[in-house]
Amino acid sequence: MAITEDRVRTFDSTSPATGEVVGSFPMDGPEEVAAAVARARDAQPGWEELGFDGRRRALLAYKALLVRRTDELVALVHRENGKPHADALIEVLMIVEHLDWAARNAERVLGPRRVRSTLVLANHAASVEYQPLGVVGVIGPWNYPVFTPLGSVVYALAAGNAVVLKPSELTPAVGCFLADTFAEAVGGQPVFQVVTGDGATGHALCLAGVDKVALTGSPATGRKVMAACAERLTPVVLELGGKDAMVVDADADLDDAADQAVWGGMANAGQTCLAVERVYVVDAVYEPFLEKVVEKASRIRPGSGPDADFGPITLPRQLEVIRRHLDDAFARGARALVGGPDAVRPPYVDPVVLVDVPDDALVMREETFGPVLPVTRARDAGHAVALANANPYGLGGAVFAGRGAGRIARALRAGSVSVNSVLTFAGMPSLPMGGVGESGFGRVHGPDGLREFSRAKAVSRQRFPLPFGMQSFDRPGFVLPAVRAAMRLRHGRAPRS
Ligand code: NAD
Repeated sequence: MAITEDRVRTFDSTSPATGEVVGSFPMDGPEEVAAAVARARDAQPGWEELGFDGRRRALLAYKALLVRRTDELVALVHRENGKPHADALIEVLMIVEHLDWAARNAERVLGPRRVRSTLVLANHAASVEYQPLGVVGVIGPWNYPVFTPLGSVVYALAAGNAVVLKPSELTPAVGCFLADTFAEAVGGQPVFQVVTGDGATGHALCLAGVDKVALTGSPATGRKVMAACAERLTPVVLELGGKDAMVVDADADLDDAADQAVWGGMANAGQTCLAVERVYVVDAVYEPFLEKVVEKASRIRPGSGPDADFGPITLPRQLEVIRRHLDDAFARGARALVGGPDAVRPPYVDPVVLVDVPDDALVMREETFGPVLPVTRARDAGHAVALANANPYGLGGAVFAGRGAGRIARALRAGSVSVNSVLTFAGMPSLPMGGVGESGFGRVHGPDGLREFSRAKAVSRQRFPLPFGMQSFDRPGFVLPAVRAAMRLRHGRAPRS
């Protein structure tokens, strides 16, 4: 990323495969960020007044335009992020489904509904609805520059908020494309603003008085964002990194499991928060599973041409992380069955399948973000789950199993799990997504993702006054003893076992 000092500070985004300049963008500082937040703040009431129906129509128009311009968007993602066209297309396809779901379901999830009262408050009715927060700041990563930011943006918009997006400094052109197409589809509602720049621009957004910050990024950035937001008590939702595990049980379909392990670990060059970064296989099927993984992983190749299975490493300094993880693993006795110590060939990394990796190796503990798949033998499914859970991250996971699949999925310490596939939950708009521990907190997608960008508004309404109410200084002396007796009758009995 080259930074130019001119009257306006700018920076270039470049193709990780060729170094070609994709575009030049302003390095927005606190003033520009404040101006974008002010524009969003001004526009938000009009957007809220459109109501669920008006916003549904606007968001569906946005969806239709994105779909019509998919080829352009896919080509831009390929140039700026480096991933193959096929992977960029999958990313767009997935977010289109989310956009459609958020637009069509916001009213059902967030709209006013009556809720039950209690016996002692039987003369009151009650209702709850979810109101927009105002302006939401969204800070995005580069690895899924369409899917991850829009996974917050479209749910926040559907809930009636305005949004200011700060895309990654590695993929600003994609971020601007997303906001420009929104403006084109939904003219007159400037509720999707964009600011460009690096971490300092993101920091300025945290301090700009937005009503919530949604970050998708690394745990280190999550900590900084949370600390900055603490200043103004700005709430945060943090979608952070992962070290996802796959568990393969004895009755799994091994062809499927091996195919998905290799794809889940190496698609997008492993630069996926939900990538399969560890595989635990029960002893009974370890050898045949490994044989299939090796056969499949040996056939895939990185590159930037149409035949490449995955692209370059987008963030140049990540190459050093991958190299360090590999060197550490080999120094601790790990063996590579595919690839080896020279797998890192900037800007590419060849596929690596590792065995005999000790649990405390870096590649088993920290996010590698490369096409590296450590496969570990476990005594049984319980042991595999214990090994999988012994990690501070807890984003997603995968289980390949027959009868025990549900039990294993429940036991994995992760926000989401796919059974007999990998990553599927992320593309299912009715499911919430988010992590535990170092993977962050809060949820995007699904009903929880809509509520994440809303505040619950509770209203109780007295339907008729009681002759002797509790909430009065003029309460007659017999009221509280009577209420107490009623409470004992209703709640005082222990449940029968
Ligand atoms: P990053 O943390 O370096 O940057 C993320 C964003 O935060 C960028 O836009 C960056 O400019 C901004 N930023 C950096 N410092 C900041 C600060 N002090 N204040 C405010 N903003 C700041 O992450 P990245 O390298 O862009 O993305 C990769 C990481 O994102 C990986 O850890 C990956 O697992 C994670 N990720 C998580 C999910 C998920 O859904 N949980 C999805 C995709 C990526």
